[in-house]
Amino acid sequence: MVAKRVPLIAGNWKMNLDHLQSIAFVQKLAWSLKDAKHTYDTVEVAVFPPFTDLRSVQTLVSADKYELTFGGQDVSAFDSGAYTGEISGAFLKSLDCTYVIIGHSERRTLHHEGDDEIAAKVAAAIRHDLVPVLCVGETADDLEKHGPSAVPVAQLKAALAGVTAGADIVVAYEPVWAIGSGQAATPEQAEQVAGQLRLTLVELIGQDAADATRILYGGSVKSSNIAGFMRQPNVDGALVGGASLDLAEFSSIVQFQKHVGT
Ligand code: PEP
Repeated sequence: MVAKRVPLIAGNWKMNLDHLQSIAFVQKLAWSLKDAKHTYDTVEVAVFPPFTDLRSVQTLVSADKYELTFGGQDVSAFDSGAYTGEISGAFLKSLDCTYVIIGHSERRTLHHEGDDEIAAKVAAAIRHDLVPVLCVGETADDLEKHGPSAVPVAQLKAALAGVTAGADIVVAYEPVWAIGSGQAATPEQAEQVAGQLRLTLVELIGQDAADATRILYGGSVKSSNIAGFMRQPNVDGALVGGASLDLAEFSSIVQFQKHVGT
């Protein structure tokens, strides 16, 4: 039987909102979702604040019992030691992080992270009982040269090379040309690649884990286009960048069921 996947709407704040701003934002987000919760309690909502906000977010979420999950935007491949500026998966776990984003295109490009480093980070996350949100996606150039699926599939295979069957992961398909550009992929494009990624997951982690894995679409998601993505059978949510910083927009994206029928 195919596993039922709970949709995940995840907000990647990138380097925005300091710890005080994060408290105000999370409080308002939780309030705005409170009434919707009765109807929409089948959606998981996660936020990915900067590292320096995580303790504040943890305290708030646990004290007020907000039904939000959260995670870091990156993790070290190493567990501890002389790695100035790095953050261990153990530290994220001790702050109650559920997830960690790995392989975001901004890290692949601006920090020159390659397949081996990303695979080591995925392994580190799993070692510390964190669920990696593994980002894969092609540039406009890749799309023209290799078509839509080749690069994301290759990145997925490389990142999961050392992962055992049954691993608990989330995959975010984020075409680089769609990130922050205002030009999202079409729902059909997202579904085509998500379908290929799921077939690849079957080879890598087995049928049951592949069926249970949430595959998110990311790249210029807004309240006006979320419904199209959520109608696709292999798209199980969204990784949202810019719009996750706009409370009304993000709250509306989370309540995507309101738009799905329209
Ligand atoms: C992202 O950076 O992960 C992202 C999806 O950004 P945006 O929603 O702004 O395109």
